[in-house]
Amino acid sequence: MSDFSSDSRAGCEDRAQLQRGASLVELLVVLFIIGLMMGLLLPALQGARNRVQATECENNVRQLALGLAQYIDAKEMLPAPGQWTVAVLPYIEQRLLADAMKNHADAGGKYPRPPLMKCPMQNDYESRLRTIGYCHYSLVVDRLPNGLVERGWVIQDRPCLEERSEPPWYVGPEIRYSEQEELFSNLEGPHQAGQYMTSNGPQPQ
Ligand SMILES: [Zn+2]
Repeated sequence: MSDFSSDSRAGCEDRAQLQRGASLVELLVVLFIIGLMMGLLLPALQGARNRVQATECENNVRQLALGLAQYIDAKEMLPAPGQWTVAVLPYIEQRLLADAMKNHADAGGKYPRPPLMKCPMQNDYESRLRTIGYCHYSLVVDRLPNGLVERGWVIQDRPCLEERSEPPWYVGPEIRYSEQEELFSNLEGPHQAGQYMTSNGPQPQ
């Protein structure tokens, strides 16, 4: 009876050991598969996230361009140099901000940046210009060589350096079309460029 009982106990221990061994192997296999799937999924997730951000950015550029086109239609001219980020505000549903800035509602000049002026993939820098919101996009104007007549313009997803050695100000200054290659060559511009606009509307590139 006692022999049987001890045999039985030994058998149980063997089985338990076998089960522990099996479950360890199973665990390793499961961990391996999870690792493999993570390795496959993470780049896919990252790619999907990048695509969402790129779409958001392109949408920002498109809406800013539409707003600026409306401004130009109404005023029959481009905003004064360096002023387009403020001039466009009433045309991108930011009239309250435009009024607050016009009336200098905040003496310190701390105004929020409209969401449309933020590229999801650009780093943030504090604007040092007091009265103007900073923008992640630049207005590039294509002028005739005499500098007076505009052939067209495009909003680019690029920060612009006011002073080369300083962090970008993101005030959305005006840049000459012929200068953009050189100005932007060292800067990160993660998303597709905007559409070239003329007084007759967008021009296919
Ligand atoms: Zn962007």
